[in-house]
Amino acid sequence: MDEIISESFHTARKAHICENCTKPIEPGQRYRYRYGKVEGDLYTVKEHEECVAFCNRLIDEGYADDTYPYISDWPRTFDRYELPDDLWEARARIMGLHWPPLDERTARQRAWKRLKAWWRSL
Ligand SMILES: [Zn+2]
Repeated sequence: MDEIISESFHTARKAHICENCTKPIEPGQRYRYRYGKVEGDLYTVKEHEECVAFCNRLIDEGYADDTYPYISDWPRTFDRYELPDDLWEARARIMGLHWPPLDERTARQRAWKRLKAWWRSL
C-alpha cells in the first residue's frame, strides 16, 4: 500500500528527471515532489506538473486501474486502453510530439511511429 507522507509543487531551479515520463524537468518548469512509503520503504518522486495532471485525468475518467499510470509504463498496457483522441493528443504533447488531426492520415501514422519508438527507447 502506497502511503503519501508529503507532497508539494515547486519550480525547478536545476534539472531533474521526471519519473513519470522519464524526460528532464528543466529549470523553470513546475514539478510535484512526493515523499512516501511503499511496503515499508521510503521513496521520493519528482514529476512534471503536466504529467501529474494528465495521469490524474486518466484516473478520474476511469482509464487507470489501482496502479498509478506512469506514462513510461504504458508500453505494457498499450493495447489495453482505448483512449479518446484528445487524450492521445495530450499524451503526445507531454512527449513533445505534434499530434496531427485525424484527417491527416499520413502525418498521423508518422506520429504513431514516433510514439512507439519513444516507448521502445525507454
Ligand atoms: Zn514528465
